[in-house]
Amino acid sequence: MASLVEFDRIEKKICEIFHVLELTDFQRKAIKSSMNGKDVLVVSKTGSGKSLIVEEVHAIDNRTKDAVVIVILPLLSIMVEQVEKLVGLGFAATYIGKDHAEDKAILSGQFDFVYGSPEELAGNGKWRDMMLAIRSRISFIVVDEVHTVVNWGESQGTEEPFRAWFSHIGELRSLCPGTPLMAGTATASVEKRKKIMDSLYMSVLTTDVLVDSPDRPNIKLSVKCVKATHDLQDTFWWIVKHLSDTMPHYVIFCKTIKDCSLLYNTLKPKDNETTGLVQMYHSKTLHSIKDEIRTTLSNESGKVRLLVCTNAAGMGVNFAAVNNVINYGPPQDMDTFIQQIGRAGRDGTQAQHLLVYHKHQMKNLEKPMLAYVKNTEHCRRENLVESYGCKNNSKPVGHLCCNVCNEECDCGMEDCTELFNIELINMPPSDTFEEEEETTFRRSTEKQSDQLQDLLQQYQKQLSTDSSGRLLANETVHGFLEQLVAQIVA
Ligand SMILES: [Zn+2]
Ligand SMILES: [Zn+2]
Repeated sequence: MASLVEFDRIEKKICEIFHVLELTDFQRKAIKSSMNGKDVLVVSKTGSGKSLIVEEVHAIDNRTKDAVVIVILPLLSIMVEQVEKLVGLGFAATYIGKDHAEDKAILSGQFDFVYGSPEELAGNGKWRDMMLAIRSRISFIVVDEVHTVVNWGESQGTEEPFRAWFSHIGELRSLCPGTPLMAGTATASVEKRKKIMDSLYMSVLTTDVLVDSPDRPNIKLSVKCVKATHDLQDTFWWIVKHLSDTMPHYVIFCKTIKDCSLLYNTLKPKDNETTGLVQMYHSKTLHSIKDEIRTTLSNESGKVRLLVCTNAAGMGVNFAAVNNVINYGPPQDMDTFIQQIGRAGRDGTQAQHLLVYHKHQMKNLEKPMLAYVKNTEHCRRENLVESYGCKNNSKPVGHLCCNVCNEECDCGMEDCTELFNIELINMPPSDTFEEEEETTFRRSTEKQSDQLQDLLQQYQKQLSTDSSGRLLANETVHGFLEQLVAQIVA
């Protein structure tokens, strides 16, 4: 057991190195566990200082000055960012593949931190040999974004695993027996945690599982089932009605690219090409458009007021100025759902989340997700937090908590009303929405029309090719059909 004095010394050292005033309780717990030689699984939401825990393990190890920390990460962009930060703090840090001239130095253990993907570290004999050769100096193995071990490493139904080497990370442990492992992720349900621990050979007896509540108290949670007879226009008319360049930002997450395209085409105003109020974002969106959307959503006065997207926007997009997030249909699992909810209210101001769904969208849901959708009587916040094995010490006043608590709220405050007026959703839009068939035209020359047609067809082709280069049917994937090209050009 690490003594209190020793711990104080390490904490002081960490604060000095990483320029922080003090550690959070959560960070303290993680470090204490590591100092006691335990494996640690850290489940803590983005922005809670989890990456600091991952980085500071180097400061803990006192056995040898030339200790090496191996960090396994799924995405190059995150490696680049973390390596730059560590180098800035004076560490010798690098990632495999950055510069082959460095390979020799990595192989002989001359770095404090070596980052690599599972494909390199578990799948490439050269790097496995390296781990074997310097094993006595490896002080920690860190696996960050560890949910990918299950999400990407295992086959989903009949499909091949997305990145099969993620399920082989556990094998690296046999190369350095006794080396503690620290695994981190923003969200992992009880079930997912068990799978992660099994895959990484983390024994229940020697692992401390530290779970931070996934609750975001500034987000009100609501759920509304939509009648089968309601089409997309009927379901979302209440947003379309208020669409303007001063409307607060909305993000609507869809389950598939097809839903996303249909919803986008339903919601965008006729003159959207000139105003750009509504945008669509999925894995096949052009990079230039993705960049534009990222910029606009991180800015309060950004042009796009309504983004219709798939979970592709859940990774790598900073929604700083978004306070209204909607799910059209629940995702399959709770982890994805919590991450999508958490896109709202990043600045800490009051935000709201709404799940709108049709009954037919409830197929193949994981148990906790299904329970959340079906629940109509229990506080949604408690329901969500409990499914992570956590408990909330406090919760917001009823009308800011969830739509179940809202109904019972008698706080008497002036603003004790619904935020999203979800009763409107099942009400037909009535004749107020039967707008005039007025269209605005912009004249273009024949040459401009030809150029436009070429660009649209290129875009269409790009949408129809998946990451492995297979061609997909237009109507099943994105609804961006020849007729639509012809309509636009005309
Ligand atoms: Zn509640
Ligand atoms: Zn109230």
